[in-house]
Amino acid sequence: MSEVRRSRRLFEHAQTLFPGGVNSPVRAFGSVGGTPRVLVRGEGPRVYDADGNSYIDYVASWGPLILGHSHPSVVRAIERAAADGTSFGAPNPHEIELAELIREAMPSLELLRFVSSGTEACMSAIRLARAYTGREMVLKFAGCYHGHADAMLVQAGSGGLTFGVPSSAGVPAALAALTIVAPYNDAKAVERAFREHDGKIACVIVEPIAANMGLVLPERGFLQHVVDIAHRNDALVIFDEVITGFRIAHGGAQNVYGITPDLTCLGKIIGAGMPAGAFGGRADIMRRLAPSGDVYQAGTLSGNPVAMAAGAAQLRELRAPGVYDRLEALGSALQEGLQRVIADLRTQLCVYRVGSIFGLFFTKEHVHDLATVLQSDAKAYAQFFHALLERGVALAPSAYEVGFISTAHSTADIQDTVDAVRAALSSRGAVTTAS
Ligand SMILES: *Cc1c(COP(=O)(O)O)cnc(C)c1O
Repeated sequence: MSEVRRSRRLFEHAQTLFPGGVNSPVRAFGSVGGTPRVLVRGEGPRVYDADGNSYIDYVASWGPLILGHSHPSVVRAIERAAADGTSFGAPNPHEIELAELIREAMPSLELLRFVSSGTEACMSAIRLARAYTGREMVLKFAGCYHGHADAMLVQAGSGGLTFGVPSSAGVPAALAALTIVAPYNDAKAVERAFREHDGKIACVIVEPIAANMGLVLPERGFLQHVVDIAHRNDALVIFDEVITGFRIAHGGAQNVYGITPDLTCLGKIIGAGMPAGAFGGRADIMRRLAPSGDVYQAGTLSGNPVAMAAGAAQLRELRAPGVYDRLEALGSALQEGLQRVIADLRTQLCVYRVGSIFGLFFTKEHVHDLATVLQSDAKAYAQFFHALLERGVALAPSAYEVGFISTAHSTADIQDTVDAVRAALSSRGAVTTAS
């Protein structure tokens, strides 16, 4: 058992200050149990906790840190920008540079706007879609996460497609009823929703690769089908690429799948670990935003120069040739290594992966939507998570999150991880799921 005394003491103090001791729920280890590690430092592929333990990190701040922790270019950009002023509330050159880098990679963002989080990006894109179409309903997919704005904290009602019910207290039922929830990878359900709510659906919002219920890949043709149905019904398509943007390819999922959404939401990587998000898309839609149009949207810290400089430094690094090939090679080495261990130990663990994102499910089912995700064994994951943490490997503290590889991970880190997984799965009490 590694020492966690300082983490425990700090976390106890935090619990007197923050509900559950945290400023974002999953950090509290609620679903895996145990003491959250209070992290004091990150460098390259590793994080260090308050007790001096180090971990090979696959959380990567939940995705933003594609270059690893404290990448020198990012740190330098932050230092320089901060020395010139932390915020102006006025146009600044860093936001122009970052916007150019984004548009160069994702030309579908003809115009964009910066915000401070993925939540804001999705919330604002939905408001814009509602205004542009003059319709009020939105369609999302079960298990996709689009931030915590009211309209998106909705799950499928017992009536299936017909209405959404709040998935959080405090979300008005009347508002949730405007959100329709369909199963991921189910284009027929989308078809049905548009038939049932003819002329009322403003937009479909989708994670083109679902990475907030573990990793669920879109089946062949699903995304194009969704786009076709939406467009046939004069509704807009919003790709939520807060995770996939600059993660699975420079141009995001839209580039990989060759699909042009009307609007795109970004976050995470574009801020390099600083608070930043963006939404953008067709110029005729975006021009509806204030001050050029009638849709209000604003932010005191939007386009924050320090965050913009950090993001620009990271995106410039990602432009270098071979970066995504390297991430793919690391991802593939991890996947192959894990699959060898799984085969040797005959563990019912499935590894899903695209590029540098991976998802692990203790299940024998093929995972293709939230229902199949929920059939996986979350208790087995919790055990596995702790067995790995003990061995110096930090996965996300939830069975329904993904792992992220960074360019800072070495092939030795990957091998160490595979070895740790072998030891964890072999260890007493760990994870040989029933049947
Ligand atoms: C993280 C995430 C969000 C929300 O971003 P925040 O910056 O946490 O508000 C939205 N959509 C997706 C797909 C995400 O992964």
